[in-house]
Amino acid sequence: MHPTTPPQPLIVPRPEHRISRANISPNALKVLYRLSQAGHQAYLVGGGVRDLLLGHEPKDFDVATDATPEQVRAVFRNCRLIGRRFRLAHVFFGSEIVEVATFRGTNPDADLDQRLVENGRILRDNVYGTIAEDALRRDFSVNALYYNIQDFSLVDYAGGLADIAAGRLRLIGADPVARYREDPVRMLRAVRFACKLGFIIDAACETPLISLAPLLQEIAPARLFEETLKLFHSGYALPAFEKLRHYGLFAELFPQTEACLAREDHDFPITFVSRGLDNTDRRVADGQSVSPAFLFAILLWEPVRLRYEALLAQDRPPVEAMILAAHEVASQQQRQIAIPKRYGLPMREIWTMQPRLERRQGKRPLQLCGHPRFRAAYDFLLLRAQVGEVDPALADWWTRLQAGEAGERGSAAGETKRKRRRRRKPKTGETTAVSPAAGSGIAADAAAADD
Ligand code: ATP
Ligand code: MG
Repeated sequence: MHPTTPPQPLIVPRPEHRISRANISPNALKVLYRLSQAGHQAYLVGGGVRDLLLGHEPKDFDVATDATPEQVRAVFRNCRLIGRRFRLAHVFFGSEIVEVATFRGTNPDADLDQRLVENGRILRDNVYGTIAEDALRRDFSVNALYYNIQDFSLVDYAGGLADIAAGRLRLIGADPVARYREDPVRMLRAVRFACKLGFIIDAACETPLISLAPLLQEIAPARLFEETLKLFHSGYALPAFEKLRHYGLFAELFPQTEACLAREDHDFPITFVSRGLDNTDRRVADGQSVSPAFLFAILLWEPVRLRYEALLAQDRPPVEAMILAAHEVASQQQRQIAIPKRYGLPMREIWTMQPRLERRQGKRPLQLCGHPRFRAAYDFLLLRAQVGEVDPALADWWTRLQAGEAGERGSAAGETKRKRRRRRKPKTGETTAVSPAAGSGIAADAAAADD
Protein backbone atom coordinates (compact mmCIF):
# COMPACT_ATOMS: atom_id res chain seq x y z
CA MET A 1 0.00 0.00 0.00
CA HIS A 2 1.53 3.28 -1.09
CA PRO A 3 -0.65 6.01 0.34
CA THR A 4 -0.82 9.05 -1.86
CA THR A 5 -1.23 11.28 1.15
CA PRO A 6 0.77 9.96 4.06
CA PRO A 7 -1.29 9.38 7.19
CA GLN A 8 -0.91 12.14 9.73
CA PRO A 9 0.61 10.98 12.97
CA LEU A 10 -0.31 12.08 16.42
CA ILE A 11 2.72 13.88 17.79
CA VAL A 12 3.05 14.21 21.56
CA PRO A 13 5.64 16.78 22.63
CA ARG A 14 8.12 16.02 25.42
CA PRO A 15 6.30 17.71 28.29
CA GLU A 16 3.17 15.63 27.61
CA HIS A 17 4.60 12.12 27.91
CA ARG A 18 6.62 10.18 30.47
CA ILE A 19 9.56 8.91 28.46
CA SER A 20 12.75 10.30 29.90
CA ARG A 21 16.27 9.88 28.55
CA ALA A 22 17.29 8.86 32.04
CA ASN A 23 15.51 5.53 31.45
CA ILE A 24 17.00 4.83 28.04
CA SER A 25 20.23 2.84 27.83
CA PRO A 26 23.18 5.21 27.33
CA ASN A 27 24.33 3.11 24.38
CA ALA A 28 20.98 3.36 22.62
CA LEU A 29 21.11 7.13 23.20
CA LYS A 30 24.62 7.23 21.72
CA VAL A 31 23.36 5.48 18.58
CA LEU A 32 20.40 7.83 18.27
CA TYR A 33 22.56 10.96 18.68
CA ARG A 34 25.28 9.81 16.33
CA LEU A 35 22.78 8.98 13.57
CA SER A 36 21.07 12.29 14.08
CA GLN A 37 24.37 14.20 13.98
CA ALA A 38 25.19 12.45 10.71
CA GLY A 39 22.06 13.96 9.22
CA HIS A 40 19.74 10.93 9.50
CA GLN A 41 16.40 10.52 11.21
CA ALA A 42 16.67 8.40 14.34
CA TYR A 43 13.92 7.03 16.56
CA LEU A 44 13.59 4.60 19.39
CA VAL A 45 10.83 2.17 18.49
CA GLY A 46 9.07 -1.05 19.44
CA GLY A 47 9.06 -2.77 22.79
CA GLY A 48 11.44 -0.25 24.37
CA VAL A 49 9.07 2.68 23.87
CA ARG A 50 6.03 0.60 24.82
CA ASP A 51 7.61 -0.66 28.03
CA LEU A 52 8.88 2.78 29.07
CA LEU A 53 5.39 4.20 28.62
CA LEU A 54 4.01 1.45 30.84
CA GLY A 55 6.69 1.98 33.45
CA HIS A 56 8.35 -1.41 32.78
CA GLU A 57 12.04 -1.89 32.30
CA PRO A 58 12.64 -2.60 28.60
CA LYS A 59 14.47 -5.76 27.59
CA ASP A 60 16.31 -4.03 24.79
CA PHE A 61 16.21 -0.91 22.69
CA ASP A 62 15.58 -0.91 18.96
CA VAL A 63 16.35 2.01 16.71
CA ALA A 64 14.68 2.91 13.41
CA THR A 65 16.23 5.25 10.89
CA ASP A 66 16.03 6.48 7.31
CA ALA A 67 19.73 5.64 6.85
CA THR A 68 20.40 2.47 4.83
CA PRO A 69 22.34 -0.31 6.59
CA GLU A 70 25.45 0.74 4.67
CA GLN A 71 25.01 4.33 5.81
CA VAL A 72 24.59 3.10 9.38
CA ARG A 73 27.81 1.12 9.08
CA ALA A 74 29.59 4.24 7.85
CA VAL A 75 28.65 6.00 11.10
CA PHE A 76 29.74 3.25 13.53
CA ARG A 77 32.97 1.31 13.64
CA ASN A 78 31.50 -1.19 16.13
CA CYS A 79 28.81 -2.28 13.68
CA ARG A 80 27.91 -5.42 11.76
CA LEU A 81 25.25 -5.92 9.13
CA ILE A 82 23.20 -9.05 9.63
CA GLY A 83 20.32 -10.84 7.94
CA ARG A 84 20.07 -11.95 4.36
CA ARG A 85 16.52 -11.06 3.48
CA PHE A 86 16.13 -8.15 5.83
CA ARG A 87 19.38 -6.43 6.47
CA LEU A 88 19.80 -4.87 9.87
CA ALA A 89 22.72 -3.18 11.56
CA HIS A 90 23.91 -4.35 14.95
CA VAL A 91 25.93 -1.81 16.89
CA PHE A 92 28.02 -3.49 19.59
CA PHE A 93 28.86 -2.07 23.00
CA GLY A 94 30.48 -4.90 24.90
CA SER A 95 27.66 -7.35 25.54
CA GLU A 96 24.93 -4.85 24.64
CA ILE A 97 23.71 -4.76 21.07
CA VAL A 98 21.60 -1.93 19.73
CA GLU A 99 19.67 -3.04 16.67
CA VAL A 100 19.26 -0.42 13.98
CA ALA A 101 16.67 -1.05 11.27
CA THR A 102 16.08 1.04 8.20
CA PHE A 103 12.45 2.12 7.74
CA ARG A 104 10.77 -0.64 5.80
CA GLY A 105 8.20 -0.08 3.09
CA THR A 106 5.08 -2.14 2.63
CA ASN A 107 4.84 -2.62 -1.11
CA PRO A 108 7.30 -5.16 -2.48
CA ASP A 109 6.62 -4.09 -6.05
CA ALA A 110 7.35 -0.45 -5.46
CA ASP A 111 11.10 -0.79 -5.41
CA LEU A 112 11.76 -3.94 -7.36
CA ASP A 113 15.27 -2.87 -8.16
CA GLN A 114 16.09 -3.16 -4.46
CA ARG A 115 15.22 -6.85 -4.39
CA LEU A 116 18.07 -9.12 -5.27
CA VAL A 117 16.70 -12.28 -6.78
CA GLU A 118 18.80 -15.32 -7.56
CA ASN A 119 17.38 -18.57 -8.96
CA GLY A 120 13.93 -17.31 -8.08
CA ARG A 121 14.83 -16.95 -4.43
CA ILE A 122 14.71 -13.57 -2.82
CA LEU A 123 18.14 -12.87 -1.40
CA ARG A 124 17.42 -9.41 -0.21
CA ASP A 125 14.09 -7.82 0.34
CA ASN A 126 15.12 -4.46 1.59
CA VAL A 127 12.26 -2.37 0.46
CA TYR A 128 12.98 0.81 2.24
CA GLY A 129 10.22 3.19 3.07
CA THR A 130 9.16 6.16 5.12
CA ILE A 131 8.52 6.22 8.82
CA ALA A 132 4.77 6.13 8.08
CA GLU A 133 5.15 2.93 6.06
CA ASP A 134 7.47 1.46 8.65
CA ALA A 135 4.88 2.09 11.35
CA LEU A 136 2.07 0.42 9.43
CA ARG A 137 3.96 -2.80 8.69
CA ARG A 138 4.58 -3.44 12.40
CA ASP A 139 2.37 -5.89 14.28
CA PHE A 140 0.50 -4.21 17.13
CA SER A 141 -0.31 -0.53 17.51
CA VAL A 142 1.44 -0.43 20.89
CA ASN A 143 4.62 -1.69 19.20
CA ALA A 144 4.58 1.07 16.60
CA LEU A 145 5.35 4.11 18.71
CA TYR A 146 8.43 6.18 17.87
CA TYR A 147 10.48 8.36 20.18
CA ASN A 148 12.15 11.11 18.16
CA ILE A 149 15.65 11.95 19.37
CA GLN A 150 15.52 15.36 17.68
CA ASP A 151 12.84 16.88 19.84
CA PHE A 152 12.05 14.03 22.29
CA SER A 153 8.49 13.84 21.01
CA LEU A 154 6.44 10.66 20.56
CA VAL A 155 5.13 9.83 17.12
CA ASP A 156 2.03 7.64 16.81
CA TYR A 157 0.75 6.57 13.37
CA ALA A 158 -1.39 3.66 14.49
CA GLY A 159 -3.34 4.71 17.57
CA GLY A 160 -0.88 3.00 19.90
CA LEU A 161 -1.12 5.62 22.63
CA ALA A 162 -4.88 5.22 22.90
CA ASP A 163 -4.45 1.45 23.04
CA ILE A 164 -1.81 1.72 25.76
CA ALA A 165 -4.20 3.88 27.76
CA ALA A 166 -7.00 1.34 27.24
CA GLY A 167 -4.83 -1.70 27.97
CA ARG A 168 -5.68 -3.11 24.57
CA LEU A 169 -3.65 -5.14 22.11
CA ARG A 170 -4.70 -4.38 18.56
CA LEU A 171 -3.17 -5.38 15.24
CA ILE A 172 -2.49 -2.48 12.91
CA GLY A 173 -4.75 -2.27 9.85
CA ALA A 174 -8.35 -3.00 9.07
CA ASP A 175 -7.94 -6.73 8.41
CA PRO A 176 -6.53 -8.74 11.35
CA VAL A 177 -6.96 -12.02 9.47
CA ALA A 178 -4.70 -10.77 6.69
CA ARG A 179 -2.09 -9.68 9.26
CA TYR A 180 -2.10 -13.12 10.89
CA ARG A 181 -1.88 -14.81 7.52
CA GLU A 182 1.07 -12.61 6.57
CA ASP A 183 2.88 -13.89 9.63
CA PRO A 184 1.14 -16.47 11.83
CA VAL A 185 3.72 -15.95 14.60
CA ARG A 186 1.78 -12.77 15.36
CA MET A 187 -0.83 -15.04 16.99
CA LEU A 188 1.78 -16.18 19.50
CA ARG A 189 2.95 -12.61 19.94
CA ALA A 190 -0.65 -11.59 20.69
CA VAL A 191 -0.78 -14.09 23.55
CA ARG A 192 2.71 -13.16 24.72
CA PHE A 193 2.02 -9.43 24.91
CA ALA A 194 -1.44 -9.91 26.39
CA CYS A 195 0.18 -11.85 29.25
CA LYS A 196 3.26 -9.68 29.58
CA LEU A 197 1.39 -6.39 29.58
CA GLY A 198 -1.82 -7.62 31.18
CA PHE A 199 -3.71 -6.29 28.16
CA ILE A 200 -6.89 -7.60 26.59
CA ILE A 201 -6.75 -8.69 22.98
CA ASP A 202 -9.04 -6.52 20.90
CA ALA A 203 -12.14 -8.53 19.92
CA ALA A 204 -11.50 -8.32 16.16
CA CYS A 205 -7.99 -9.65 16.71
CA GLU A 206 -9.05 -12.30 19.19
CA THR A 207 -11.91 -13.89 17.25
CA PRO A 208 -9.85 -15.26 14.33
CA LEU A 209 -7.24 -16.91 16.57
CA ILE A 210 -9.03 -20.21 16.98
CA SER A 211 -9.68 -20.76 13.28
CA LEU A 212 -6.25 -19.53 12.18
CA ALA A 213 -4.23 -21.45 14.77
CA PRO A 214 -3.36 -24.25 12.26
CA LEU A 215 -1.38 -21.70 10.24
CA LEU A 216 1.39 -22.16 12.78
CA GLN A 217 2.26 -25.38 10.94
CA GLU A 218 3.74 -23.19 8.19
CA ILE A 219 6.29 -21.67 10.51
CA ALA A 220 9.86 -22.93 10.57
CA PRO A 221 10.34 -25.17 13.64
CA ALA A 222 13.50 -23.24 14.58
CA ARG A 223 11.55 -19.99 14.78
CA LEU A 224 8.89 -21.68 16.88
CA PHE A 225 11.57 -22.82 19.30
CA GLU A 226 12.61 -19.20 19.86
CA GLU A 227 9.01 -18.05 20.24
CA THR A 228 8.20 -20.84 22.67
CA LEU A 229 11.11 -19.85 24.87
CA LYS A 230 9.93 -16.24 24.89
CA LEU A 231 6.44 -17.40 25.81
CA PHE A 232 7.50 -19.61 28.70
CA HIS A 233 10.67 -18.05 30.05
CA SER A 234 9.53 -14.50 30.63
CA GLY A 235 7.82 -14.91 33.97
CA TYR A 236 4.24 -15.55 32.81
CA ALA A 237 4.46 -19.12 31.57
CA LEU A 238 1.32 -20.31 33.37
CA PRO A 239 -1.05 -17.60 32.05
CA ALA A 240 0.52 -17.98 28.60
CA PHE A 241 -0.10 -21.74 28.70
CA GLU A 242 -3.73 -21.22 29.67
CA LYS A 243 -4.30 -18.63 26.95
CA LEU A 244 -2.54 -20.69 24.31
CA ARG A 245 -4.73 -23.66 25.16
CA HIS A 246 -7.82 -21.51 25.11
CA TYR A 247 -7.14 -20.40 21.54
CA GLY A 248 -6.05 -23.82 20.29
CA LEU A 249 -2.52 -22.53 19.73
CA PHE A 250 -0.98 -24.89 22.27
CA ALA A 251 -2.31 -27.86 20.32
CA GLU A 252 -0.41 -26.64 17.25
CA LEU A 253 2.82 -26.27 19.19
CA PHE A 254 2.56 -29.40 21.36
CA PRO A 255 0.03 -31.76 19.76
CA GLN A 256 1.17 -34.77 21.80
CA THR A 257 0.80 -32.95 25.10
CA GLU A 258 -2.53 -31.47 24.09
CA ALA A 259 -3.84 -34.95 23.27
CA CYS A 260 -3.00 -36.11 26.83
CA LEU A 261 -4.47 -33.02 28.46
CA ALA A 262 -7.68 -33.22 26.44
CA ARG A 263 -8.07 -36.91 27.28
CA GLU A 264 -7.67 -36.60 31.00
CA ASP A 265 -9.42 -33.28 31.35
CA HIS A 266 -12.66 -35.23 31.53
CA ASP A 267 -11.42 -37.45 34.29
CA PHE A 268 -9.38 -35.40 36.66
CA PRO A 269 -7.25 -32.49 35.58
CA ILE A 270 -3.58 -33.04 34.87
CA THR A 271 -1.77 -30.61 37.05
CA PHE A 272 1.84 -31.44 36.28
CA VAL A 273 2.34 -28.99 33.40
CA SER A 274 0.63 -26.17 35.28
CA ARG A 275 2.64 -26.90 38.40
CA GLY A 276 5.87 -27.00 36.43
CA LEU A 277 5.14 -23.73 34.63
CA ASP A 278 4.08 -22.05 37.85
CA ASN A 279 7.37 -23.16 39.34
CA THR A 280 9.19 -21.70 36.30
CA ASP A 281 7.43 -18.37 36.85
CA ARG A 282 8.46 -18.33 40.50
CA ARG A 283 12.07 -19.00 39.57
CA VAL A 284 12.05 -16.15 37.05
CA ALA A 285 10.47 -13.84 39.64
CA ASP A 286 13.15 -14.80 42.17
CA GLY A 287 15.94 -14.24 39.66
CA GLN A 288 16.86 -17.96 39.63
CA SER A 289 18.13 -19.58 36.47
CA VAL A 290 15.77 -21.43 34.13
CA SER A 291 16.81 -23.86 31.43
CA PRO A 292 15.22 -24.74 28.09
CA ALA A 293 15.95 -28.44 28.76
CA PHE A 294 13.90 -28.39 31.95
CA LEU A 295 11.13 -26.33 30.37
CA PHE A 296 10.67 -28.74 27.47
CA ALA A 297 10.96 -31.67 29.87
CA ILE A 298 7.92 -30.22 31.68
CA LEU A 299 5.98 -29.41 28.53
CA LEU A 300 6.40 -32.88 27.02
CA TRP A 301 6.26 -34.99 30.17
CA GLU A 302 2.61 -36.08 29.88
CA PRO A 303 3.04 -37.89 26.55
CA VAL A 304 6.38 -39.32 27.71
CA ARG A 305 4.80 -40.63 30.90
CA LEU A 306 1.89 -42.18 29.05
CA ARG A 307 4.12 -43.90 26.53
CA TYR A 308 6.41 -45.06 29.33
CA GLU A 309 3.52 -46.65 31.17
CA ALA A 310 2.34 -48.37 28.01
CA LEU A 311 5.83 -49.81 27.49
CA LEU A 312 6.02 -50.93 31.12
CA ALA A 313 2.73 -52.73 30.60
CA GLN A 314 4.47 -54.58 27.77
CA ASP A 315 7.07 -55.75 30.29
CA ARG A 316 9.87 -53.51 29.15
CA PRO A 317 12.37 -52.78 31.90
CA PRO A 318 11.79 -49.28 33.33
CA VAL A 319 14.96 -47.53 32.17
CA GLU A 320 14.71 -49.01 28.69
CA ALA A 321 11.01 -48.07 28.52
CA MET A 322 11.82 -44.50 29.47
CA ILE A 323 14.64 -44.19 26.96
CA LEU A 324 12.29 -45.42 24.26
CA ALA A 325 9.39 -43.20 25.29
CA ALA A 326 11.69 -40.17 25.50
CA HIS A 327 13.08 -40.86 22.06
CA GLU A 328 9.67 -41.34 20.46
CA VAL A 329 8.09 -38.22 21.93
CA ALA A 330 11.12 -36.02 21.31
CA SER A 331 11.44 -37.07 17.67
CA GLN A 332 7.77 -36.51 17.04
CA GLN A 333 7.96 -33.05 18.60
CA GLN A 334 10.74 -31.95 16.24
CA ARG A 335 8.10 -31.62 13.50
CA GLN A 336 6.62 -28.63 15.29
CA ILE A 337 9.48 -27.21 17.30
CA ALA A 338 13.15 -27.73 16.57
CA ILE A 339 14.70 -28.21 19.99
CA PRO A 340 18.45 -27.84 19.50
CA LYS A 341 20.50 -30.88 20.54
CA ARG A 342 22.23 -28.99 23.33
CA TYR A 343 18.83 -28.80 25.04
CA GLY A 344 17.22 -31.93 23.64
CA LEU A 345 19.83 -34.28 25.10
CA PRO A 346 19.66 -32.96 28.68
CA MET A 347 15.85 -32.89 28.38
CA ARG A 348 15.86 -36.61 27.65
CA GLU A 349 18.32 -37.25 30.46
CA ILE A 350 15.97 -35.58 32.93
CA TRP A 351 13.31 -38.08 31.87
CA THR A 352 15.52 -41.15 31.71
CA MET A 353 16.84 -40.45 35.19
CA GLN A 354 13.32 -40.65 36.64
CA PRO A 355 13.11 -44.48 36.87
CA ARG A 356 16.66 -44.46 38.19
CA LEU A 357 15.61 -42.08 40.93
CA GLU A 358 12.87 -44.47 41.91
CA ARG A 359 15.48 -47.03 43.00
CA ARG A 360 16.98 -46.53 46.40
CA GLN A 361 19.03 -49.67 46.73
CA GLY A 362 22.71 -50.16 46.20
CA LYS A 363 25.44 -47.76 45.36
CA ARG A 364 23.55 -46.38 42.38
CA PRO A 365 21.88 -43.49 44.20
CA LEU A 366 25.26 -42.12 45.20
CA GLN A 367 26.56 -42.47 41.67
CA LEU A 368 23.49 -40.66 40.40
CA CYS A 369 24.28 -37.72 42.65
CA GLY A 370 27.40 -37.16 40.59
CA HIS A 371 25.55 -37.11 37.28
CA PRO A 372 25.66 -33.70 35.59
CA ARG A 373 21.87 -33.82 35.20
CA PHE A 374 21.18 -35.00 38.73
CA ARG A 375 20.06 -31.65 40.10
CA ALA A 376 17.59 -31.06 37.27
CA ALA A 377 16.27 -34.63 37.46
CA TYR A 378 15.85 -34.29 41.22
CA ASP A 379 13.95 -30.99 40.80
CA PHE A 380 11.78 -32.77 38.26
CA LEU A 381 11.13 -35.59 40.74
CA LEU A 382 10.06 -32.99 43.32
CA LEU A 383 7.49 -31.65 40.88
CA ARG A 384 6.21 -35.15 40.24
CA ALA A 385 5.93 -35.72 43.97
CA GLN A 386 3.99 -32.48 44.36
CA VAL A 387 1.29 -33.67 41.98
CA GLY A 388 1.15 -37.11 43.55
CA GLU A 389 2.85 -39.00 40.75
CA VAL A 390 5.49 -40.43 43.03
CA ASP A 391 5.53 -40.97 46.76
CA PRO A 392 6.63 -37.73 48.46
CA ALA A 393 8.69 -39.95 50.78
CA LEU A 394 10.90 -40.81 47.81
CA ALA A 395 11.55 -37.14 47.09
CA ASP A 396 12.28 -36.60 50.79
CA TRP A 397 14.70 -39.50 50.76
CA TRP A 398 16.70 -37.86 47.97
CA THR A 399 16.59 -34.54 49.71
CA ARG A 400 18.00 -36.13 52.85
CA LEU A 401 20.56 -38.13 50.93
CA GLN A 402 21.95 -34.94 49.49
CA ALA A 403 21.95 -33.28 52.84
CA GLY A 404 23.93 -36.29 54.04
CA GLU A 405 21.68 -37.25 56.91
CA ALA A 406 23.11 -40.03 59.01
CA GLY A 407 20.26 -42.47 58.51
CA GLU A 408 20.34 -42.26 54.76
CA ARG A 409 24.10 -42.46 54.77
CA GLY A 410 23.94 -45.61 56.81
CA SER A 411 21.28 -47.21 54.69
CA ALA A 412 23.07 -46.30 51.47
CA ALA A 413 26.26 -47.82 52.80
CA GLY A 414 24.44 -50.85 54.21
CA GLU A 415 22.68 -51.51 50.93
CA THR A 416 25.94 -51.22 49.10
CA LYS A 417 27.56 -53.97 51.14
CA ARG A 418 25.08 -56.43 49.72
CA LYS A 419 26.20 -55.72 46.16
CA ARG A 420 27.25 -58.81 44.31
CA ARG A 421 29.62 -57.38 41.75
CA ARG A 422 32.92 -55.97 42.98
CA ARG A 423 34.24 -52.96 41.22
CA ARG A 424 37.89 -52.52 40.51
CA LYS A 425 39.75 -50.34 42.97
CA PRO A 426 40.49 -46.88 41.71
CA LYS A 427 44.08 -46.40 40.64
CA THR A 428 46.14 -44.02 42.69
CA GLY A 429 45.23 -40.46 41.87
CA GLU A 430 41.86 -41.45 40.39
CA THR A 431 38.96 -39.65 42.01
CA THR A 432 35.36 -40.64 42.31
CA ALA A 433 32.97 -38.27 40.53
CA VAL A 434 31.07 -36.59 43.31
CA SER A 435 28.60 -33.81 42.87
CA PRO A 436 28.65 -30.80 45.16
CA ALA A 437 25.37 -32.14 46.48
CA ALA A 438 27.02 -35.35 47.53
CA GLY A 439 30.09 -33.66 48.86
CA SER A 440 29.01 -34.45 52.38
CA GLY A 441 31.04 -37.57 52.70
CA ILE A 442 28.31 -40.02 51.72
CA ALA A 443 30.11 -40.98 48.54
CA ALA A 444 33.28 -41.73 50.47
CA ASP A 445 31.28 -43.92 52.86
CA ALA A 446 29.75 -45.80 49.98
CA ALA A 447 33.13 -46.31 48.33
CA ALA A 448 34.52 -47.64 51.60
CA ALA A 449 31.55 -49.95 52.02
CA ASP A 450 32.11 -51.26 48.53
CA ASP A 451 35.66 -52.42 49.13
P1 ATP B 1 10.02 -7.69 23.59
O1 ATP B 1 11.40 -7.37 23.08
O2 ATP B 1 9.68 -7.10 24.87
O3 ATP B 1 9.71 -9.12 23.51
P2 ATP B 1 9.23 -6.22 21.24
O4 ATP B 1 7.94 -5.54 20.89
O5 ATP B 1 10.44 -5.36 21.31
O6 ATP B 1 8.98 -7.00 22.59
P3 ATP B 1 10.66 -7.69 19.26
O7 ATP B 1 10.46 -9.10 18.83
O8 ATP B 1 11.92 -7.30 19.91
O9 ATP B 1 9.43 -7.37 20.21
O10 ATP B 1 10.40 -6.81 17.98
C1 ATP B 1 10.67 -5.41 17.93
C2 ATP B 1 9.60 -4.70 17.12
O11 ATP B 1 9.59 -5.18 15.77
C3 ATP B 1 8.18 -4.93 17.62
O12 ATP B 1 7.84 -4.03 18.66
C4 ATP B 1 7.35 -4.68 16.37
O13 ATP B 1 7.21 -3.30 16.11
C5 ATP B 1 8.26 -5.26 15.28
N1 ATP B 1 7.96 -6.67 15.00
C6 ATP B 1 8.54 -7.74 15.56
N2 ATP B 1 8.01 -8.89 15.10
C7 ATP B 1 7.08 -8.55 14.20
C8 ATP B 1 6.21 -9.28 13.35
N3 ATP B 1 6.18 -10.61 13.37
N4 ATP B 1 5.38 -8.56 12.55
C9 ATP B 1 5.42 -7.22 12.52
N5 ATP B 1 6.22 -6.48 13.30
C10 ATP B 1 7.05 -7.12 14.12
MG1 MG C 1 12.47 -5.99 21.62
